Amino acid sequence: EAEKQNAQIRSQFPALHQMLDDYPLCYLDTAATSQKPQMVLDAMAQFYANDNANVHRAAHQLSARSTLSYEKVRDQLQQFLKAERREEIIFSHGTTESINLVAFGLTTHVSAGDVILIDAAAHHANIVPWQELAKRTGAVIKPIPLDQACRLDVSAYKTLLELKPKIVALCHVSNALGTVNPVAQLVQLAKAQGAITLVDGAQAVAHLTLDVTEIGCDFYVFSGHKMYGPTGIGVLYGRFDLLDTLAPLLTGGEMIKRVSFEATEFGSLPNRLEAGTPPIAEVIGLGAAITFLQAELTPQVQAYEAELVNYLQSQLRALGEVHLYGAFDDNIGVVAFNLADEHHQDVGILLDQQGVAVRCGHHCAMPLMQSLNLKGCCRASIGIYTNKHDIDRFIAALVSVKDLLL
Ligand code: PMP
Repeated sequence: EAEKQNAQIRSQFPALHQMLDDYPLCYLDTAATSQKPQMVLDAMAQFYANDNANVHRAAHQLSARSTLSYEKVRDQLQQFLKAERREEIIFSHGTTESINLVAFGLTTHVSAGDVILIDAAAHHANIVPWQELAKRTGAVIKPIPLDQACRLDVSAYKTLLELKPKIVALCHVSNALGTVNPVAQLVQLAKAQGAITLVDGAQAVAHLTLDVTEIGCDFYVFSGHKMYGPTGIGVLYGRFDLLDTLAPLLTGGEMIKRVSFEATEFGSLPNRLEAGTPPIAEVIGLGAAITFLQAELTPQVQAYEAELVNYLQSQLRALGEVHLYGAFDDNIGVVAFNLADEHHQDVGILLDQQGVAVRCGHHCAMPLMQSLNLKGCCRASIGIYTNKHDIDRFIAALVSVKDLLL
């Protein structure tokens, strides 16, 4: 039954059905970016073919249609994330921009000596904007360490929270390892010490069912392209009262109420944080991706994804000579590994020669790689369309790489 459902889902992704030289594509790089279902491609093509107009400004019918479609996706997102208000949803260009909007916007909230805690497993996008904030304000960055098994060290975290940090930046699911943080619990502990909390959901949103009210965070951010939507679109969810105090990173058209050469009055949320013409077609594509996810990401499909990750881990273990990093039963989407002492890049290139796409490198998590004493590793990551045959193909290809190199 699960496999039938999987085949039905897979058939909706045109890019998966292609040959790379003599090999059918085996796409195990969904954590970098997911493939797109036909309905997302159609929604964007239909927008450009029929409704294309700028949003908000014009009085004409195309603009009214475009604005309506654009704002409908905000409503969809409010419901998707279970946010209290539609104004709590801000469109950005991706996770990176969303975090920058928050880190810049909070500048006036932060003073010299304030502490900012950052998850040691964080992606660079959830590190560098905070470092820049620290440079502007004199705040101090402290990493929240991981334990021996590569999970966030909750007792070290509790000790760090005694410093009464101003901001706590966490990842929901690690892009490098696939480990999951108990974010609701971690946020609750941070809030008890009065911290502002941001959760990076870039790797969570395609796999988990989200409820930002239950998580309790002040900010939750993600990218459309990792959840079967287009590139160039991201989301910033912010708790209204706090979101309303962010200084805008970008200023210009669309975000104002009144402009004169003497003074400008900013508009209200959400427009205040969406200066300029937004990525309209991408928002519409994201709306289709949410419709897709809400229809297809059932508990059975989530269970099948979990089964695939476990199968992937156990097949890699069975190979021998493979190092796994941060591998647990509850990993989401990602398995990180190295083949003996071979360079991750060599392994990736040899896999690619058999049509198998994995990511190799530091996965934009250099501090994490340093703490694991690694220059990098290979990462196989799955999506809603991945099947058991993909894993078997990958393992067979890795066996031949192993025979070649070892
Ligand atoms: N955070 C995490 C956990 C990610 O996986 C990524 C993408 N690799 C990002 C942030 C950055 O996302 P984007 O490049 O779409 O802005």
